[in-house]
Amino acid sequence: MRVLVVGTGAAGAMAAKKLSAAGHEVHVLEAGDPFKALTRKVMHAGALRRTGLLGSERTISRLFPHMRTARSGDLVMVRGAGGCTTISCGNILPADKGLKEIGLDLSTEFAEIIESLHLCIVPRERWRPTTSQMFDVAQEMGLNPALTPKALSQDRCICCGMCELGCAMGARWDSRAWVEEAMASGAQVHYGHEVRDVMIEDGHAVGVHAVTSSGVTTIKADRVVLAAGGIGTAQILRRTGTSISDTLWIDPVFTFGGMKKESEQLDEMPMVWYAKKDDYIISPYLDLLSHFFQPAWRKVGIDDRVGVMVKLADEANGHVDADGNVEKALSGKDEASIKEAGELVEDIMSGAGVKGPITLGMINGGHLGGTVPLHREEVVTMHPAVLPENLWVADLSLVPRSQGMPTMVLAAAIASRVCSAVEKSDQSD
Ligand SMILES: Cc1cc2nc3c(=O)[nH]c(=O)nc-3n(C[C@H](O)[C@H](O)[C@H](O)COP(=O)(O)OP(=O)(O)OC[C@H]3O[C@@H](n4cnc5c(N)ncnc54)[C@H](O)[C@@H]3O)c2cc1C
Repeated sequence: MRVLVVGTGAAGAMAAKKLSAAGHEVHVLEAGDPFKALTRKVMHAGALRRTGLLGSERTISRLFPHMRTARSGDLVMVRGAGGCTTISCGNILPADKGLKEIGLDLSTEFAEIIESLHLCIVPRERWRPTTSQMFDVAQEMGLNPALTPKALSQDRCICCGMCELGCAMGARWDSRAWVEEAMASGAQVHYGHEVRDVMIEDGHAVGVHAVTSSGVTTIKADRVVLAAGGIGTAQILRRTGTSISDTLWIDPVFTFGGMKKESEQLDEMPMVWYAKKDDYIISPYLDLLSHFFQPAWRKVGIDDRVGVMVKLADEANGHVDADGNVEKALSGKDEASIKEAGELVEDIMSGAGVKGPITLGMINGGHLGGTVPLHREEVVTMHPAVLPENLWVADLSLVPRSQGMPTMVLAAAIASRVCSAVEKSDQSD
């Protein structure tokens, strides 16, 4: 069986690994180029930053070529060209909001994936003092902060704080490890292949059209598995003429920036602890995007900047069009949660001696999904009724609700379960 997998993120890499191990002829189509990490040299752009010459989030990919953004009002959606795991903070937690409600239990997949990632926590002696103080304050406030499990090799991590720019030390896990496993089982990876749409004949997927440096090419297949992420998958389906729903969620991140002399928060892993509430988590995080691109953050230098983020489970109400443009707004409930979280963050920061004014960073959403939400009756087949029989979606697009939590493991677990369903459907053919 010749299968096309679209995307090399957590979901696509898992799908490629599982399907190639099962003996299929797997071709992985990836719009981006092979990923290369940036180093701290990027901080030289600091001089331009103070003048504002770096521009706005529209110019992010000039400084960080591996990032793609889309804006809707104040919200900036961020994704990695080549997948988001390469620019992640390596936080690993199983998130399953909204899944039990539709009868989907991924605990077996979560356990398998988490075991394979050999997690660790970052010991307190590697935290910066302000982060330690903020942890203590959060504890005194009854927020029950916990240490964040990380897919990370402690020995190799030099605490450069630049996880989002790729790990130049190779200390942090990313989905390239699974892509390599897939290749070892025979999968072929084609970079620079941006899938435009799925070719449908007589109600069946027969291949894709992909844009490459030499033009549009046709690639035939018996099965197509889309794992192009919350925007990419939605975009391909729109171009294919498949009906998707206006229920994009993005887990927006609000980073509150304060100031404390020589706090040097960049000299630690981001998000070493987190405090969880129903709809959000709070975690120490020096947001580099806000540092470089948010005008309100320009006056404070990187050594004195202290950031604490709130990652919110937002309402699923966004629209993605065929060009990848996004329309998304925060609801009244989202705004109320962020107000509540902001008050807690201000107390944590001031309790640890962080000074105001506390300014909000760029509101960015990097956990994207929800536009092909699975319904209860589709959970056995993992195949949404809107799709032709041999076209599959295997990423967070299937997840009906936002998480406000790390989503890499969820994306991989969904892909794993979809691949099991693909196998079952092959056997019944
Ligand atoms: C800055 C940042 C930090 C994060 N940190 C964490 C963290 O610490 N822990 C955590 O659990 N989660 C984190 N996340 C979220 C997590 O990384 C993602 O939710 C998850 O990895 C999504 O995986 P995916 O495979 O579904 O999508 P993606 O990672 O977006 O992968 C989709 C892939 O498809 C490719 N693609 C898109 N369109 C096309 C097309 N038309 N044709 C071909 N290829 C295409 C893309 O280039 C990409 O490689 C972070 C996200 C961001 C943005």
